[in-house]
Amino acid sequence: MTADTITAADIRINARWLIPIEPAGAVLKNQAVIIQGTRIVAVTPQEQADREFRTRETVDLPYHVVMPGLINMHGHAAMTLFRGMADDLPLMTWLNDHIWPAEGRFISKQFVADGTQLAMAEMLRTGTTTFSDMYFFPEIAAQVAHDAGIRAQICFPLLDFPTSWGSGPEEYLSKGRAFIDTWKADDYIMPAIGPHAPYTVSDGPMAEAVRLSEDTGARIQIHLHETAFEVTEASEKLGKRPTARLAELGVLRPETQCVHMTQIDDSDISLLQQSGAQVIHCPESNLKLASGLCPVQKLIDSGVNVAIGTDGAASNNDLDLFGELRTAAMVAKVVAGDAAALSAHKALEMATINGARALGRDHELGSLISGKLADIIAIDLSDPFLQPVYDPASHLVYSNHGRSVSHSWINGVPQVQDGRLTRIDVADLMLRVDDWAGRIREQAD
Ligand SMILES: [Zn+2]
Repeated sequence: MTADTITAADIRINARWLIPIEPAGAVLKNQAVIIQGTRIVAVTPQEQADREFRTRETVDLPYHVVMPGLINMHGHAAMTLFRGMADDLPLMTWLNDHIWPAEGRFISKQFVADGTQLAMAEMLRTGTTTFSDMYFFPEIAAQVAHDAGIRAQICFPLLDFPTSWGSGPEEYLSKGRAFIDTWKADDYIMPAIGPHAPYTVSDGPMAEAVRLSEDTGARIQIHLHETAFEVTEASEKLGKRPTARLAELGVLRPETQCVHMTQIDDSDISLLQQSGAQVIHCPESNLKLASGLCPVQKLIDSGVNVAIGTDGAASNNDLDLFGELRTAAMVAKVVAGDAAALSAHKALEMATINGARALGRDHELGSLISGKLADIIAIDLSDPFLQPVYDPASHLVYSNHGRSVSHSWINGVPQVQDGRLTRIDVADLMLRVDDWAGRIREQAD
C-alpha cells in the first residue's frame, strides 16, 4: 500500500456498533464512517479505514451505536408551546374547545419561530435529523429550520376557513405556490402541501392541491382516518369513506402521505396498495386521544410503506422518536395478536428508510451507505439502564430513551456533540419559552 492510495476526507466516526439500515437487519462492529463535505464516502471496517483514509477530524465512539438520523414524518412543531396545556380529552373536544381557541389567540410569526425552535431543540437532542411540519406561517418554520441546518418537510396549511395565515383556500393556495417556489431548491427544506383533513377541505381545493403537487413535485400530507367519527360522518353525509373520496379526487398517489389511518378496513388498504400512497403512523397521539390503532403489520404485509411521526407535542406530549418507536413496536404486536409483529429492526426502518421513501428521498437519506447525505446519529449505550448489550437494535427500540443520543450530524455538520446542541442557543430559547408560557397561563386563569 503506497501513500498515494490514501484519500483525504473531513470526518471519521469510529463506531463500536453500526446499524446501517441497508442491508436490512445488519449490525456491524468496529466500523468507520467517513464523511467528505455533505456526504458519506465510505462505511468500512476500522482497520481498512486506517489504510485508506486520512481525515482532519476523528470522533471515537467506543460505547456507541451509530445509525442514520431519524425522520419524524408528522408534527406541528410550534405546538410545543402548548405542551401539557389540555390533556385527557377526546380529539374533537380537544380541538374545538382548547387548541383552536388558543391558536386563534396566540399564533403569530414570533410564536411559530419560538415554538419551532423549541421543537427542533428537542428533536435534535433525541436523534431526529429530518422532521415534517404542518402549521401556520410555514415560511417562518422553513426559515428557522434552514438557519439551524435541520432538514425539514414544511407543509403549508390548506383549509376551507380563514386562519391567521390566510382568508380561505384561494389565498392559502396562492401563498402556498409562492412558498414552494421560494424553497424548492433549498438544501434543507422540502416545501409541501398540507390539506388539513378530509372534513376541513372540500373537493375544489383538494383537487387544486393535487394539481399543485403535479406541477411542482411537492408532496401532499393529510390527516386521514384519524377517528371513527371522521369515517362514519363522511359515510353518512357523502355515502363514501374518506379514502374513497380522496381516491376519486386523485389525492391518493405515491406523492401523498396519509397520517394516522387508525380506522381502516380492507377497502382502504386496497386503495393504499393500488395508489402507492404513504402511511404515517403516530401511535402515541392516537393512544392519547383514544383515536384508535393503525394496523401497521397488516399494512406492511400488504406492501404499503409505513413511516412514523410523533404528531404535535400537545397530543403526545414529547417529540422523542425513540419513545414513539417503542410504543409503535408494542402496539403493533397487540393489534396483530403476534409478538413477532414489527420487530426492532422493522421499527428502526420505519423511522429511517421508510420516512425517506415517503419523502421521495430514499436515494439520499435513511441509511448509511456511501454516496448518501451525512445525516448520522450516535447513541451512547454505556449507561446502566442500557447494560448489558447483547443486541443494540433491541436496546434502541425497547430500552432506550432519545436522551441517550450523544451525537448527530446533518449534511456532515455537527448538531449534537456529547449530548449538547451546537447550533441552538438553549438559554436564550428558554427565556422566550418562559415568556410565552406566562402569557398562555394568564389567558387560561
Ligand atoms: Zn397532526
